[in-house]
Amino acid sequence: MKIIDTHCHLYLDEFKADIDAVIERARKTGVERFYLPAIDSEVTDNMLALEATYGGECFAMMGLHPCSVKENFKDELRNVQEWLNNRTFAAIGEIGLDFYWDKTFIAQQYEAFETQMQWALERNIPVVIHTRNAIDEAIDTVKPFAAKGLRGIFHCFTGSYENAYEIIDMQFLLGIGGVLTYKNSGLQPVMEKIDLQHIVLETDAPYLTPVPYRGKRNESSYLQYIVTKLAEIKNISADEVAAITTNNAEKIFGR
Ligand SMILES: [Zn+2]
Ligand SMILES: [Zn+2]
Repeated sequence: MKIIDTHCHLYLDEFKADIDAVIERARKTGVERFYLPAIDSEVTDNMLALEATYGGECFAMMGLHPCSVKENFKDELRNVQEWLNNRTFAAIGEIGLDFYWDKTFIAQQYEAFETQMQWALERNIPVVIHTRNAIDEAIDTVKPFAAKGLRGIFHCFTGSYENAYEIIDMQFLLGIGGVLTYKNSGLQPVMEKIDLQHIVLETDAPYLTPVPYRGKRNESSYLQYIVTKLAEIKNISADEVAAITTNNAEKIFGR
């Protein structure tokens, strides 16, 4: 089985002590690639160092996370732009709208989101989108860019069937992770109706740990629990889930 963790923050301090063991455990369960979403300039050094250590397995993105959009967001965006001009990245992400933690910088979140989608369009690379309490607003913001050819992933998708349908209609993918294993998430009945050709797998490690490890640190080897859950929901084999979602990930990020 060959699977791809399309979204994991393995460069964070939570993994500092045992990253080699974390990668090795993931390899043993079939994880062949790890895509590393950026957050802000604070994490760039550690993210790029991990990518350099695991060349051909770890792939960095570049971008400003909506929760890091603060007073200094123009400086942060300039930093993102400089990096994008310097070298190639797998995607621009994670970017988006987050109205859960703090609504002080909503206008700036929209500006940062739209600016970075424009940069992705110009570079012909995908975007990885984070939304929390803002899925309808995010879909509306993406629509004109999708119409111009922008592609990407709505990571950690937890929305309704209607949301999923709109996202698929824009030819975007849904990133599915640990939330799928949570009984009351409401995501299982939505996934029953969504074709796997629109799905990629992710852990969002160290966050959103699947059952049976919910509450502990998440890591990429736990992607197998998402595969098992999807196989159960779709009534197909784990190998089929792996093959389809891996193909989707390779298509969006390139091989
Ligand atoms: Zn996120
Ligand atoms: Zn994330």
